Amino acid sequence: MIYLDYNATTPTDPRVLDAMLPYFQARFANPSSIHRAGHEARRAVEKAREKLAHLVVARVDEVYFTSGGTEADNIAVKGVAFAQNKRKKIITSAIEHHAVLTTCEYMTKFGFEVVKVPVDPHGIIDLNFLEDAVDDNTVIISIMHANNEVGTVEPITEISKIAHRHGIVFHTDAVQTVGKLPIDIESMGIDMLSLSGHKFCGPKGTGALIARTGIRFDPLSHGGHHEHNKRAGTENVPGIVGLGKACEIAMTEMAEEEKRIRLLRDKLWNGIREKIPDLILNGHPEKRLANTLGICVRYVEGESLLLHLDMHGICASSGSACTSGSLEPSHVLLAMGIPHETAHGSIRFSLGRYTEEAEILEVIRVFPKIVEKLRVISPLSKK
Ligand SMILES: *Cc1c(COP(=O)(O)O)cnc(C)c1O
Repeated sequence: MIYLDYNATTPTDPRVLDAMLPYFQARFANPSSIHRAGHEARRAVEKAREKLAHLVVARVDEVYFTSGGTEADNIAVKGVAFAQNKRKKIITSAIEHHAVLTTCEYMTKFGFEVVKVPVDPHGIIDLNFLEDAVDDNTVIISIMHANNEVGTVEPITEISKIAHRHGIVFHTDAVQTVGKLPIDIESMGIDMLSLSGHKFCGPKGTGALIARTGIRFDPLSHGGHHEHNKRAGTENVPGIVGLGKACEIAMTEMAEEEKRIRLLRDKLWNGIREKIPDLILNGHPEKRLANTLGICVRYVEGESLLLHLDMHGICASSGSACTSGSLEPSHVLLAMGIPHETAHGSIRFSLGRYTEEAEILEVIRVFPKIVEKLRVISPLSKK
């Protein structure tokens, strides 16, 4: 199998798995327990919290462990909106992950107005539109750090400045950047940040919300005093330990890994565009994640491409995992102004830690043949 779908999920790093295993059996205790075994589990959780804080330059008491990126996004948007009762506008972008978009839409039930900032053809959000949209009625701006489908990286520092001029909380879904790009919440002006373990070789079902000291938000789950009263429920100790290990590895290996993956990604792009006419690169040509190659192949269906790649043992995606299975083209590509017909031919290759050059060469060999075959039978193709 050639796995090029790292933006959907990643394999767990064996070092992460090794770190987790003792916490299923020998060190299984509840971190809230008073006995020695409990203390040991507590220490493991707090050690992981330090590693996570270190990776994004936060304080340890600004880290709240969650079940993943989706839960962190939910707590940020709902938690901040519900913790006050004056401001009634939520600003987000048109290209957010559904974890943010659907959460924002849900808030309209409670009288909140949702404004979606449009993006340019490269997927960069319109800062002038944002500037005009913010007002004293706005409670939170939630705009992602990098987009999962096309990889475009948003101007986070500029967005945070606009938010803070109006006393608005700025949240960013950084699920696609934590572990891939250096992050410093202080210098970037981030008030809240969501991250997810399984997107950078940590375990699934783990993640965190980072919330700066002083940011007020309500919890979504109520119960015990876990996570400073913000997320009740016994901690997922093995998962948290694994997430900590994934952060530690990212801290030391991220820069080298980014360089290696960028070279492979560019090799893939150059290799296929040399052989296939009428390809469109999705996302920003430079301000883009080093691992992501989203393209539109004109005159063919992305789903057909995926099926044929799969027959050759190659895993890719036609957009976000959450939208596959539906016939509507991706909301991200449509927001970027890509016509419906072109967006239907979208395919995303996303590379990662275990991607090897030989695999890229195999895709360069196979993919153009698939496209050629499909275009011959395509009614859209001009003969
Ligand atoms: C994967 C992803 C999520 C969801 O994270 P989970 O941990 O799978 O819940 C949220 N936002 C973005 C940008 C993602 O890529």
